[in-house]
Amino acid sequence: MVCIGGNRCMETVQGDITLQKVDALVNAANTSLLGGGGVDGAIHRAGGPAILEECRALNGCETGDAKITTGGNLFASYVIHTVGPVYEDGKQGEPELLASCYRRSLEVAVENHIQTLAFPAISCGVYGYPLEEAAQIALEECVAFLKASTAIRLVRFVLFNETIHRVFQNALSQVTGC
Ligand code: ADP
Repeated sequence: MVCIGGNRCMETVQGDITLQKVDALVNAANTSLLGGGGVDGAIHRAGGPAILEECRALNGCETGDAKITTGGNLFASYVIHTVGPVYEDGKQGEPELLASCYRRSLEVAVENHIQTLAFPAISCGVYGYPLEEAAQIALEECVAFLKASTAIRLVRFVLFNETIHRVFQNALSQVTGC
């Protein structure tokens, strides 16, 4: 765990995001917000139909933006749905859009008095973002946010397998110098 200013901490763990006991989970959704595979499918399965019902009222979400629902049956009280970019060649605005996902998710968290949250590796599944680049962007954006704001106490990256976990762990050390 790496802490900034004494009370804003970041960590990487290997595991299933749906089991995390934090105020909010971030979901790597698609623009329809009406469900998909990967981490989106897992969150909707674990959280139950209430989340999808709330998503229907949100009229989708643009790539790089984030919207919030309650957490249904999850331990987490909220789910923040963000839409990562589909990776093409890295020259279609993908880095800015991916950074925006993390920033907007954190902004929505602060607006809703959320203090602890868990992120998956947004865009690193079917959306095909190269892992090292995605991890660097994710960690840089979150560190910058925590330096500028005192509202969030914990950002936990929950990585589904050992390979992705190692990449995010390295990026955390590199970005923070710890
Ligand atoms: P995207 O469409 O943004 O690429 P995916 O859901 O396909 O989203 O994948 C994003 C990341 O989430 C991938 O690294 C995938 O391995 C991971 N993932 C899938 N299920 C879970 C889960 N239950 N907990 C944490 N991470 C998960």
